[in-house]
Amino acid sequence: MTSGFFHNSALDAKSDIERVKALIKGVVQGVGFRPLVFRLATDLVLFGSVKNTCHGVCIDIEGTKEKIDIFFKNLNKKAVSPISISSIDRSSEPLLGYKVFSIEKSTDEHSHSSALSPDLAICGECIADISDSRNRRYRYPFTTCSACGPRFSIVESLPYDRDNTSMRAFQMCAQCREEFENPSNRRFHAQTNACSACGPELKLLDSSGKLLLCGDAALSATVNYIKKGHIVALKGLGGFQLLADATSDQAVSILRERKQRKSKPFAVMFPSLSELTRHCLTSIYEENVLVGRQAPIVLVRKKAANIFGLSAFVAPENPFLGAMLPYTPLHYLLCNELGIPIIATSGNQSDEPICIDNAEALEQLSNIADLFLVHDRAIIHHVDDSIVQFIDKQPQVIRLARGFIPLSVPREKTGEFALATGGHLKNAVVMALHDEIIVSQYIGSLDTGKSRDVFSKVVRNLENIYRAAPKTIIHDLHPDYFSTSTFTSRPAAKISVQHHIGHAFSCFCEHKLSFPALAISWDGTGYGTDQTVWGAEFFLLRDSEVRRVGSFKPFMLPGGERAVYEPRRSAIGLLYEIFGKDVLGFKTLPSIQSFTGEELSLLEQMLEKKINSPYCSSMGRLFDGVSSLLGLVQKSDYEAEAAIRLESISQLSTLNKSYDFKFSYANVGGENILTADWGFLIRSILEDIGNGKPQCDISLKFHHTLATIACRVAEVFGIEQIILSGGCFQNRTLCQLVKKCLEAKNFRPFFNQLIPTNDNGLAFGQMAYYEKYLSQQ
Ligand SMILES: [Zn+2]
Ligand SMILES: [Zn+2]
Repeated sequence: MTSGFFHNSALDAKSDIERVKALIKGVVQGVGFRPLVFRLATDLVLFGSVKNTCHGVCIDIEGTKEKIDIFFKNLNKKAVSPISISSIDRSSEPLLGYKVFSIEKSTDEHSHSSALSPDLAICGECIADISDSRNRRYRYPFTTCSACGPRFSIVESLPYDRDNTSMRAFQMCAQCREEFENPSNRRFHAQTNACSACGPELKLLDSSGKLLLCGDAALSATVNYIKKGHIVALKGLGGFQLLADATSDQAVSILRERKQRKSKPFAVMFPSLSELTRHCLTSIYEENVLVGRQAPIVLVRKKAANIFGLSAFVAPENPFLGAMLPYTPLHYLLCNELGIPIIATSGNQSDEPICIDNAEALEQLSNIADLFLVHDRAIIHHVDDSIVQFIDKQPQVIRLARGFIPLSVPREKTGEFALATGGHLKNAVVMALHDEIIVSQYIGSLDTGKSRDVFSKVVRNLENIYRAAPKTIIHDLHPDYFSTSTFTSRPAAKISVQHHIGHAFSCFCEHKLSFPALAISWDGTGYGTDQTVWGAEFFLLRDSEVRRVGSFKPFMLPGGERAVYEPRRSAIGLLYEIFGKDVLGFKTLPSIQSFTGEELSLLEQMLEKKINSPYCSSMGRLFDGVSSLLGLVQKSDYEAEAAIRLESISQLSTLNKSYDFKFSYANVGGENILTADWGFLIRSILEDIGNGKPQCDISLKFHHTLATIACRVAEVFGIEQIILSGGCFQNRTLCQLVKKCLEAKNFRPFFNQLIPTNDNGLAFGQMAYYEKYLSQQ
């Protein structure tokens, strides 16, 4: 005991010194982690080094055991968002006698693709900088540090160094250079570092492109223009946005008129969380995401009484509002000075990708915007705002974009390069590299030439950045999708994946499930293996195969694709299936009334002769049909409007009842599959409509019925893990009811959370399917 006492530090300090090597994993690169390590180590007078490696950050440190323990304790405490440590692996090493602590330039960090970080929302320290009149960055709208700012949207190639980004155009001034080179500064190695003396500058242009003002004067003038009701096109982080005063009916309706967007909700940016919560009811979960580093649009519930003056035209007939907070210093300065909520919607022509270039924006948006607030930092990759909603306290990303992408998911086994090309609407692509899977930004609908160019550019960029030429291309089964046909001449193996199987696997792999599982894929429409249109499918997923084991009874869609934007056509298709020609006798039904006599007789002929009236089993179209029967939407202004309106009114009811339905077995393509017959359901709905039952009750009862059907099918197969995937599970009411129903029967339901359940997540599902069955053979 005494010897131990005597051997204490005071007598022989040297022997107390030890050397520890630690590998830190998690979100620790490109987020200011090395400067943090440097500060903590030098504060404690510890020596050694820190560097990025492809396995994580490696810390090599010498000092007393006590100090080293304090160091790691502090590291855990100080590593706050966006830094996130997932593991620290420590080992003892022989002493080397370090004399300094240094940040080492790593040799291999650039070979690792994860070096490409998503764009990050402005951090609290940078907000403090731009808000302090004594700070040299006071009101400078391009302030960033190593913990925040643009990343992916400005990078041309790897490594992520200034020379490979659009910041290359700006030479750092002496003061910025000093910060950049000083390891104890939080702007150490911040590739985007700049100030008003050396960085990007604002310019305010009129709609003909004439320069009106520069710098801070441009910012202040913009604030005044918005206050006066003008519409401003703003060059934001990943593209242009259209801004307008969200409290002015006139400004919002002018924007609607010019953008030719009748009723689709606009997203709103609030100056602060407290301002946001004056207008909306938010949970702590939603607030955490709103203020998080991804800073997405969050769909939050509006307050019932709109007493603070948000225009009713912002999100008409919708109990929810897409709300967000300023995520760049430019947005922050604008919103702070305005003090009112503003519309911040994508700067594009409808269905086109967002503009990223000043000249392009002037050309495309000059008939929408009165003014253009632009700058001279080029946007390399377009990135839309991400959208998140909450289902039962759990987040569900419904547009995966800014802050999340490029999303990297570890590959289960290393494999060859492969590309998954997604679907036609809400497109995104996925690239499988050596040991990880990268999800691209949201691209959108591939309807126009411009959006197809953007699609090709995104694929090209991914290939360039990661220097990957895919050996295999995985695409949707639909032969006519641009995302399928554009690659036919490529010398790569091609694999097609049925649309709804793709959805099922996006959820299966997101939750790292193991076989077997029953997947409920409820969606708009997709090409089936029997060449009919699918969309209300049940699949059995096993390690040997995927089998379609159930569906809904098919009905005809008069006019085919046109039915997607005319819910009344789905209604006619449903009625025709039940009543045949007699459907035209339902003269009081709003669906029938919305057609002229001429149109009706044409429809009748189409259905009778089965011309351009494909059979479908689509859940999306079933929703459309019911929405039309109830008189909610006959022609929709935007995708899924009819279903959204139907869900919205269901929330006014508390009824806990289902309609009747029945099952039968049907021979489909030689397979006997379980078929849910919605005939009774539609008949009962017609009866309720006839009896004047409230729309909200009918709607909720319809939702309950679907949940009951899902549960009955689950009981037939008795498999514990149930996957809920496809665009229909964006419907919160449906998702919640199905989930609750299944849980009550001891099933374990899973829904998409990070990977969108709609077609935005399809490419990931295609890749996941390929990984599970094909890549390792
Ligand atoms: Zn910052
Ligand atoms: Zn500077």
